[in-house]
Amino acid sequence: MNLYEAAEADGAIIQNSHVVYTPKDGQWYHGSAYVDKDRIASNPQLLLRFADQMAWLMINVDESVRARIGMVQGQRLVVVSPAVGAISWGTALASKLDGLFGVVKFAYADKQDQGFRIRGSFLDLIKGSNVVIAEDVLNSGGSARKVADAVVQAGGIVVVVAAMCDRSAGEAAQKLAPYPVLAVMNVMMDKWTSRDCPLCRQGVEINRTVGKWREWEDDVRESKMVESIKTVAAPSPPGRVVMPFGKYANKYLDEIEDQYLLWLVKTHADKGQFDEDIVEACEQELRSRGVALPYGE
Ligand SMILES: [Zn+2]
Repeated sequence: MNLYEAAEADGAIIQNSHVVYTPKDGQWYHGSAYVDKDRIASNPQLLLRFADQMAWLMINVDESVRARIGMVQGQRLVVVSPAVGAISWGTALASKLDGLFGVVKFAYADKQDQGFRIRGSFLDLIKGSNVVIAEDVLNSGGSARKVADAVVQAGGIVVVVAAMCDRSAGEAAQKLAPYPVLAVMNVMMDKWTSRDCPLCRQGVEINRTVGKWREWEDDVRESKMVESIKTVAAPSPPGRVVMPFGKYANKYLDEIEDQYLLWLVKTHADKGQFDEDIVEACEQELRSRGVALPYGE
């Protein structure tokens, strides 16, 4: 079994499915493929095969990368990963490169605010060293870029970005320039906004084992619920302000203010369209605001 087949057999690469991706710019995306990096990380043999392959790439394939790594003779090479997910990948890669590229060490960068930072004894290690940035999966290259910036700030020299998998379709290479990017696998992933998703249109069931399906379904449910409240409440005369239900209230307060009457919420609930616990939460909210329930307790 080649590495790709092994990753697929282990569930690390999923194809021909219907997956919900992490939303971007307030927009949900669906697609047919998924790279489950946790599956690779949780299988040491598979992880080592990826590291083997990357070491081979670094030695054999790219002359310019080799030249970069060997830029300063006798210099230490440090593999740096973003914490936490990519640490096992970076460690595996460092152990494979050790000896092949002189003395190879490993360090990781911590998340801080919007970026990453190098701290503690890693600072001494990285200062003046050639550095390989080891990222597990390149989605857009954003995190790897921030780690590279932190390394440069710590006085390191970034020579290459080494990823298990690049699914960015070229975006990462652009974002990481001038640093060269090497990936063991390039996985092309079609994606569409959830609105334009052909799989949704065909009624293909959502993959409920990976991706952000739970958050997406919650979001869809919320939107539907707010829409249904609006529909029911629309013909009613504006009157008292009602907080329909806890967490939605903040999100939609501006929109719903002055539009809803408490009895509508109750009526709606009687029709079985709201869960009892939602109505209860609503009633509690109203009581805490000193609003009497017109239909009694
Ligand atoms: Zn879809």
